[in-house]
Amino acid sequence: MAQALVFDPVRLPPAAEALRREVRAFVAEHLDPDLLRNSDFGSGHDPAFSRALGARGWIGMTWPGKYGGGDRSFFERYVVTEELLAAGAPVEAHWIADRQSGPVLLRYGTEAQREFFLPRIIRGECYFSIGMSEPDSGSDLASVRTSATKVDGGWVVNGTKLWTSGAHRNHYMITLVRTEPVGENRHAGLSQLIVDLKNPEGLTIRPIANMAGDRDFNEVVFEDCFVPDEHVLGQPGNGWEQVTSELGYERSGPERFLSSFRLLVELIRAVGPDPEPAQAAAIGKLAGQLTTLRKISISVAGMLQSNRNPIVEAALVKELGNNFEKELPEVVRLVAPAAAGRLFQRTLEDTLLHAPSFSLRGGTREILRGMIARGLGLR
Ligand SMILES: Cc1cc2nc3c(=O)[nH]c(=O)nc-3n(C[C@H](O)[C@H](O)[C@H](O)COP(=O)(O)OP(=O)(O)OC[C@H]3O[C@@H](n4cnc5c(N)ncnc54)[C@H](O)[C@@H]3O)c2cc1C
Repeated sequence: MAQALVFDPVRLPPAAEALRREVRAFVAEHLDPDLLRNSDFGSGHDPAFSRALGARGWIGMTWPGKYGGGDRSFFERYVVTEELLAAGAPVEAHWIADRQSGPVLLRYGTEAQREFFLPRIIRGECYFSIGMSEPDSGSDLASVRTSATKVDGGWVVNGTKLWTSGAHRNHYMITLVRTEPVGENRHAGLSQLIVDLKNPEGLTIRPIANMAGDRDFNEVVFEDCFVPDEHVLGQPGNGWEQVTSELGYERSGPERFLSSFRLLVELIRAVGPDPEPAQAAAIGKLAGQLTTLRKISISVAGMLQSNRNPIVEAALVKELGNNFEKELPEVVRLVAPAAAGRLFQRTLEDTLLHAPSFSLRGGTREILRGMIARGLGLR
C-alpha cells in the first residue's frame, strides 16, 4: 500500500538568521564580486579560504566541542552552507570532510581516529575524498571489487576506484572495499578503510578531465597498497551499513539544488529593473521552484537535527533539486539578454558545461527514483 512522505514545516531559528548576516559580511570581505563565481560545491579548491572558514568555527559546526567542533545545530550549519554556495564561495577543499567524512568518523570511528582527524578537519587543514565508485560499480555499489586482504598489522588493497573527486589534492579517502568473498548476502563482507592519499606506495592517482576541461575527479589504482589496522573505519564487515548511513548527509543539503544559482543571480543583474515579459516569467518560475526546494531541504535538516535517518526524504530533495539545477541554465539560455556582459556569458558557459554531471554524482536519478518509489511503498 502507498505511504506518504512527510516533510514537517520548519522555520529557521533566530540564531540561524543572525548567523546569516555574519556569513554575508565574511563573504563580502573575502570574495571579489566581479570575478566568475560558481555555486557548485565541487569546483573551487582554496585551502586558504577553507582555513579562514575553520578559524571562524564554520567547519564541523555540529560536532562536539571536545574535538574542537561548534556544538551548533543543523539549522545553523544549513545557513552557513547555503550562504557560501549562493555567494559562489570556493568550498571544495573541505566540503566532503565537513559534510560526510567527519560525521561518519564521529559515528563509527575509534576514539584515536576522532582525536586525530576531527580537529584537523575543523581547522580547514585536512581534506577527504569518497572512494565508492569503480569502473564496473557505480549505481550497484555492493558489486565493488577492490579488495583488502588481512596481513600482519593491516590490510593489502588491490583494485581501482573511479571518478574520485579531489583525490589528487585531498589527504585521505574513505574507501569501500571487499574484505570477504561475496556470499549469499552481497552486502556482507564490505569494509571501509581510511587511505592516506599522500603516501604514494602502491597508489597511482590519475586526474580525468571533465567536459569543461577541469581536472577534478580521478582514477585511483591500488597495487598491493598497505593500510594499517588503525585506519580501518568501524568494524570490518560493517561497510554497507556505514556507507548507506552517509546518504542522508550526502543528498539533502542545499548543494543539491544550488549548483547553478550564480547564473540566476547574474541573469537578474543582467536584465536589470525592466525585464522583458519572458525574462520576468523565467525568473518567477525559477524563484518559485527554488522556494519549494529550500523548504523541503530545511525540513530534512530538521530530521537530521532530531537524529532521524531521512534517506528517502533526502533522495527526494536530490532528485527534484538536480532537475532544477540542470534545467536552470537551459531556461536562462532562452531568455538571455542580447547585450549581457562578459560575467553573465562566462557564468552561463560554465554552468552549461557542468550541469550534466549534477544528476550523476551522489547517485543517478533512476536510482533515486527507485528509492523514492520504495519509500512510498510502490515497489
Ligand atoms: C562530477 C562527478 C563526481 C563524482 N565524484 C565521485 C566521488 O568523489 N566518489 C565516488 O565514489 N564516485 C563519484 N562519482 C561517481 C558517481 O557516483 C557515479 O557516476 C554514479 O553513482 C553512477 O555510477 P556509474 O557512473 O557507474 O553509472 P552506472 O551505474 O553504470 O549507470 C549507468 C546508467 O544506468 C542507469 N542504471 C543503473 N542501474 C540502474 C537500475 N537498477 N535501474 C535503472 N537504471 C539504472 C543509471 O541511472 C545510469 O543512467 C562522481 C560522478 C560525477 C559525475
